[in-house]
Amino acid sequence: MAIIRIRDIELSEREVNGITEYAWEAVRVYKIPVECYGEHITNMYLIIDGEITLIDAALNTEQAMTDLLTGMATINREFGIRVGIADINHVVITHGHADHWGMLSNDKFRGKKVYVHEFDTMFMKDFGSMRVNSRGRINSLIEEAGWNLSMDNLFSLDGIVSEPQGCELIELKEGQRIINGYEVYHVPGHSPGHICLKVGPVLFLGDLILSKTTPLQIPGSMLEGCGLRLYLNSLRRVGGLDRHLGLPAHEATIYSVSDRVVEMEAFHYKRLLDIIGVCAQEKSLFQITDEYYQLRPETLNGRTVADLSRDEQILALEEIKAHIEYLIDDDHMTITGVENGVVMYRAK
Ligand SMILES: [Zn+2]
Repeated sequence: MAIIRIRDIELSEREVNGITEYAWEAVRVYKIPVECYGEHITNMYLIIDGEITLIDAALNTEQAMTDLLTGMATINREFGIRVGIADINHVVITHGHADHWGMLSNDKFRGKKVYVHEFDTMFMKDFGSMRVNSRGRINSLIEEAGWNLSMDNLFSLDGIVSEPQGCELIELKEGQRIINGYEVYHVPGHSPGHICLKVGPVLFLGDLILSKTTPLQIPGSMLEGCGLRLYLNSLRRVGGLDRHLGLPAHEATIYSVSDRVVEMEAFHYKRLLDIIGVCAQEKSLFQITDEYYQLRPETLNGRTVADLSRDEQILALEEIKAHIEYLIDDDHMTITGVENGVVMYRAK
């Protein structure tokens, strides 16, 4: 068992069979990592403090549900807290991406109170039409990038994700206090209605701050409420808060949120500078993306864009486009023209 000091509060941290308990005063938080697909793990957290609250609800896959039930059995057996899905009073969703709420379509969650920021409820209430719109936006992105990619079976979530039925959706706003006084911070950028939730000395980070990787950037032109500038502002805001223990929705616990924010900001500034370097001559988004990752293969675990799956290639285009929009906004880059629908860029 480890003791962590956050301001004047002492938390204990104890891990058994992959489940980690954080305890202070009468509050218990359990981290339950569940596998959504492949190697994609979402951390679900249970808060027990008179009320029982779940933070994020992964995907509704058999493996994810098995991992959640096994985790709850461990909490019962090893930590002596009798809790099952039926006992959960509240579910707080950090943002509208399906690997954070997909499990709500499982009957076990019927009738639950679900809290999500007002700008992200569309992902859950209108998943079908959001998918159609995003398909259209991805198609234009590929065309203007000057790339020829197939649009078949895009992000094959069909059959895994459906809109939650029979949950009571409660829309959140910045600064609101919910449940036992938990505080909502609206931190847009990765998604329009992304939130962090402060519970005493702990900050649930969602995808805003991860311990190892940086979350995908979606260009603001593709979805209002996204974009690198909003994201970096959100990052700095959370980095400037008092010290908290950071509990992210993927990867490992963050013991110094402000240090991790400094690293993540530096990562994006370096990427911005690299992109300026790549764009000394006029180039398309495809060329910029391809050349950037050739320059920094370490950011793709040593791979190049050609090695990626089609879905990953689309995400790479979105990531680089989000950085280009930031540079254009700051007058470091310009659109030099459009040739057969392909947009050309150059650094200024
Ligand atoms: Zn996520």
